[in-house]
Amino acid sequence: MLSKVILQANIDKVETYFNRADKIVIVTHVSPDGDALGSSLGLYHFLSGQGKDVRVIVPNAFPDFLRWMPGAKDIVRYDKYSDFADKLIAEADVICCLDFNALSRIDAMAESVKAAEGRKVMIDHHLNPEPFCRVTISHPEISSTSELIFRLICRMGCFDDITREGAECIYTGMMTDTGGFTYNSNDRQIYFIIGELLSKGIDKDEIYRKVFNTYSEGRLRLMGYVLYEKMQVFPQFRAALIWLTKEEQGKFHYVKGDTEGFVNMPLQMKGICFSVFLREDTEKQMIKVSLRSVGAFPCNKVAAEFFNGGGHLNASGGELYGTMDEAIALFKQALVKYESLLLKN
Ligand code: 5GP
Ligand code: MN
Repeated sequence: MLSKVILQANIDKVETYFNRADKIVIVTHVSPDGDALGSSLGLYHFLSGQGKDVRVIVPNAFPDFLRWMPGAKDIVRYDKYSDFADKLIAEADVICCLDFNALSRIDAMAESVKAAEGRKVMIDHHLNPEPFCRVTISHPEISSTSELIFRLICRMGCFDDITREGAECIYTGMMTDTGGFTYNSNDRQIYFIIGELLSKGIDKDEIYRKVFNTYSEGRLRLMGYVLYEKMQVFPQFRAALIWLTKEEQGKFHYVKGDTEGFVNMPLQMKGICFSVFLREDTEKQMIKVSLRSVGAFPCNKVAAEFFNGGGHLNASGGELYGTMDEAIALFKQALVKYESLLLKN
């Protein structure tokens, strides 16, 4: 049996909003990952099955390895079709904000979501949700938003209405936000939920292969290059840094998603508990920062203090509008400032 994570009052409100709605829009964060898409499409399949007119809108492109997800083809990209998306957002009776906690995380979409009159519902697992929704379902203790979507649907009494397609999406989000159930994944209820999803006919082994084993040759060669030439290890701080310029990405025919997981690789070394990956963005003039830690070291604090970002204790990110040299210098400053915490961890 699942414990009741989501407050009953919030379940009741969301159920009422859904019942009264014809048009529902689901939005998620910039550069959507497996959980952003998994939760959005999981909810999309459920609400479509209830006869609602549902649209998923994302701020920009998502990686190729998520393109197979059922419903992905119908997703509206805001950076390509902003007028159409603005209309959908303005006309929606309900706007579900999934897997993000602040309007700044949806980039250019923020204004139209903020101005929209539809009832807004946040379903998320990031710390410190901003108060821009009528209902805020925020559970940082749950490892994925997709799991929250499963819990929400079940609590509305609709487990039977989850289709295989919906279950595949939910599973994908749970799997990706836990690194294939290798972190944030000790809650035994996760495995109860997986059992329920398997009863819908999903092939979890195939989903793993589709997400993690369909990379291009360029990605693997880039990985080799990064490990051989670009990873700097700071054993005295138990930390490591990887950085990549636009030019280097071009050399390896980089496409979105190709550097997914790179930030985790240095953590495979004994004694390393903090890893940072700096990548010159190919779309915007900025350095995208990814941070990971193991144990109690709060990489989200470093993200907030040095890189205009935030996130979870062990997985966070940020953006820096500056040069790569500045970003590297900031990383080194962070090591010095957090030395005692790094060594204590
Ligand atoms: P990733 O390194 O996979 O891009 O991001 C890991 C986590 O860091 C995300 O799940 C999200 O919680 C957080 N994150 C990533 N980028 C940003 C950002 O620019 N701002 C904030 N506040 N959080 C971010
Ligand atoms: Mn997530």
